[in-house]
Amino acid sequence: MELSLSNGIFSKLGLEKNFALVKQLGFENIEFNMKSVRKENETAVYCAAKLLNASKLKCLTLHSASLHVKDEVEVHRAVYYGKISLEFARRLKTPVMTVHSNVSKPLLQPVRKKCLTEIFSELNRHAKSSGVRLALENLSYTSSGFGKNVDQLEEVLSVIDDGDMGITIDFCHALETKTATELLEHYGSRVCNVHMANKSHKPFTEPEPELTAFLNRLNDLGYAGPITLELAHGTSMEEILRSKALFDKLLRQF
Ligand SMILES: [Zn+2]
Repeated sequence: MELSLSNGIFSKLGLEKNFALVKQLGFENIEFNMKSVRKENETAVYCAAKLLNASKLKCLTLHSASLHVKDEVEVHRAVYYGKISLEFARRLKTPVMTVHSNVSKPLLQPVRKKCLTEIFSELNRHAKSSGVRLALENLSYTSSGFGKNVDQLEEVLSVIDDGDMGITIDFCHALETKTATELLEHYGSRVCNVHMANKSHKPFTEPEPELTAFLNRLNDLGYAGPITLELAHGTSMEEILRSKALFDKLLRQF
């Protein structure tokens, strides 16, 4: 397993400072969160790729910009965000892009199905031609989006899965919704990214039993992908360093 840091935590800074802080903390890998891009256009893609190359950081995963659509008229905007994100993933040579379902919780099932079909028929096609694998994330119960447990994810997957859809397990969300075991049992073989934090996206600094049980199970399932620290804004540099030290130690045994 490879330790990585989501640069979403530094999204308010410019990319140069953002990457510099990730490096200063001693990370070699990042998840590029689209929140850290101010203007999502052609020039921004080139600029991001140039800065990433200069930083020598390895971008293991990219977190898509997403919109949880509340009405069919918003579908084209969700597709636009997804396509721009895929363009970044392609230019940053990132093999995996984490996506949300992009549909809002209150939508009625038939409308949800229609929106999911429209959004993902486009995104799956673009992902294929960009050589990027999409990985659907389990959401938190506080999220406005649909897809917080296996039942809901199964419904989404039954519409959007083209046979190659991966899964991002967000351990913080899984703890909050008490779904960690269930998610691993269902999706063990398709996990391609793990978002790692304690509840409320607080950093783990101690090897708590739920955490070590989860990592051991992932290892048993043969997972060797990213463990992406995804921490709340306001987490101090010292706390990030303590969390990094913990995971450096925990991951060494696998
Ligand atoms: Zn997450």
